[in-house]
Amino acid sequence: MSAYVAVGTAWLAGCSGCHVALLDLADELEDILHVAEFTFSPLGDVREPVSVDVAFVEGCVSTTEDESQIARIRGAAKILVALGSCATCGGIPALRNLSNATEVVARSYAEAPGLEVVGTMPVGEPPRLRDRAQRVADVVTVDVEIPGCPPTPEMIGKALKALLAGEKPRFGSKNLCVECDRKHPQLHLPRRQFLADYAYASTDVEEQDGATFLVPRREIFDDTVRAIFELDEIDPTLCFLEQGVLCMGPATRQGCNAACPAINYPCRGCFGPTPDMFEQGARIMDALATILPPPALTHFEDLVGVSYRFCPPRPACGEGEDKK
Ligand code: SF4
Ligand code: SF4
Repeated sequence: MSAYVAVGTAWLAGCSGCHVALLDLADELEDILHVAEFTFSPLGDVREPVSVDVAFVEGCVSTTEDESQIARIRGAAKILVALGSCATCGGIPALRNLSNATEVVARSYAEAPGLEVVGTMPVGEPPRLRDRAQRVADVVTVDVEIPGCPPTPEMIGKALKALLAGEKPRFGSKNLCVECDRKHPQLHLPRRQFLADYAYASTDVEEQDGATFLVPRREIFDDTVRAIFELDEIDPTLCFLEQGVLCMGPATRQGCNAACPAINYPCRGCFGPTPDMFEQGARIMDALATILPPPALTHFEDLVGVSYRFCPPRPACGEGEDKK
């Protein structure tokens, strides 16, 4: 690779947060620009892929337009980098795989609460949803994956510098607990009733528009929110799991230096699974099953939202089926 490197960036189905993290490189980006030129990017004037040494792609492949764009980028790039959890494992946009594409469009445009004009479907020719949203590696060959939602600017800088030097960037592959300073003297055994269990186990039935909903009892829910967010009650030196607060650390890839536990907030799993985990959700269930009585797991009302939020179940994404 020559000293002058052509770099492109693109976004598919994502939120642009990974590009914001790229911009957060700030001064470091200035140094990078001495040896690299960004030739196409949604942040610049040229957005269509042109031939580059390295292309960074944010977002998952959700629409037919994403699919043709990623094929063009793959054809134009010597090295393709999947940037962030949406690109590396589907991310939040791939949660839509739990419904089919027709249901998703109807829910988004015709039924969702808060729509100003209920029942108005999009006019013109919006991009057509594929049957499933998929991680980039399930559609084309990917050379490098950078985890995170979003990845830290440090990780993006490290990857850029390695690639500019003709090397393959490497990231830690253990779980987040190895980066977390919190102590676990009781080997994760919770000291009080587990909060997620506490929140969801006891429910009231609510009727609304002829439909029946199970909701957490208000006073219990309020207590739980207080316990989680009024952090005075939580010992900032002890592992969350030991205090009965769900933390996704055991099922989440390292890389952020345990930024959330460091500010007394439990990990939500945004870096996705480690490379040796098949599924992030299955791994956290595995971990919790060792510290909770079995019936407690069945009381998790939003099992998907808690444990698969950033990396939906692989079969739901049709892993490996559609690769070109
Ligand atoms: S990985 Fe997170 S920050 Fe990046 S596009 Fe997806 S939702 Fe946004
Ligand atoms: S479970 Fe959470 S709080 Fe406990 S050691 Fe792991 S990352 Fe830290």
